[in-house]
Amino acid sequence: MKQIEGVMYQTNAPKGIDPDGIYFVQVDTTKCEGCGACEEVCATGAIQSINDDYIHQVVDTAACMNCGQCLVSCPYGAIYEGVSYVDEIFEKLKDPDTVVVSMPAPAVRYGLGECFGGAPGAYVGQQMHAALRKLGFDYIWDNEFAADVTIMEEGTELINRVKNAGKKDTLPLPQFTSCCPGWMKFVESYHPDLLPHISTCKSPIGMLGALAKTYGAHETHTPAKKMYTVSIMPCIAKKYEGLRPEMADSGYRDIDATINTRELAYMIKKAGIDFNTLPGEDPDPVLGESTGAATIFGTSGGVMEAALRLPTRHSPASI
Ligand code: SF4
Repeated sequence: MKQIEGVMYQTNAPKGIDPDGIYFVQVDTTKCEGCGACEEVCATGAIQSINDDYIHQVVDTAACMNCGQCLVSCPYGAIYEGVSYVDEIFEKLKDPDTVVVSMPAPAVRYGLGECFGGAPGAYVGQQMHAALRKLGFDYIWDNEFAADVTIMEEGTELINRVKNAGKKDTLPLPQFTSCCPGWMKFVESYHPDLLPHISTCKSPIGMLGALAKTYGAHETHTPAKKMYTVSIMPCIAKKYEGLRPEMADSGYRDIDATINTRELAYMIKKAGIDFNTLPGEDPDPVLGESTGAATIFGTSGGVMEAALRLPTRHSPASI
């Protein structure tokens, strides 16, 4: 294990492992005081006090949604992430035979500034692009592009469900979004009866990983097998999503590594980049352009609001 920004990690970068068997959060029993703060925030009972000589917490990987709420709520810093790709990404960035692609989520650009003394929620997207370029990423592609793709797909699906409601073989209403891997695992594990209500679309990063290694590889004349895609996300559950077996539609692993906002901040600091003095830069154009609908993915309720805008903007008479 090693320490990043005050949090302990095992420095493994899992490949080809069933993510349901991985501890994405774990308890450092030498620090745990058994206070129960984690139990209070856990929606599934995956983390509980046990008493074998002394009281501490355990995490059940099958029951854990990887939401990370226990980690942020622990007053003793006793809960840490079990998976980090930071060291592997630094190695890939140095490798001249690897084309490293960044894919930051909408929310990251509103959380990253706080790691450098900025106001919580301040927008630092342009400096984030510049920092990624300085770190050595070959392409600065953007998950907001894929958020727009998701909304075209998910909004169209919603229109079809509304238009065909009650007809045979039509998926039921209401339609729930499928972008959050913690929510998806919760439904799959605890409420499979709700699965017909979940959008059939992948999340934006699920789409962007596949697009990067197909359309992006074609447009940049890059062999997909040389491409290493880095998903940069606001939460731990996205590490689970990146490892799901079905995320391989490109013919390769669509997402090679996933880090969160705090880990990106750590990488920028470790590389000696003065984030606050960086000039604003744009993402690369091939998979970098987006609309305001993509931007609101970064807030609660934003995905479905964006989906609802699609029919009202483009086909108000069709539903
Ligand atoms: Fe519970 Fe979430 Fe912690 Fe898992 S990550 S143990 S679901 S609070």
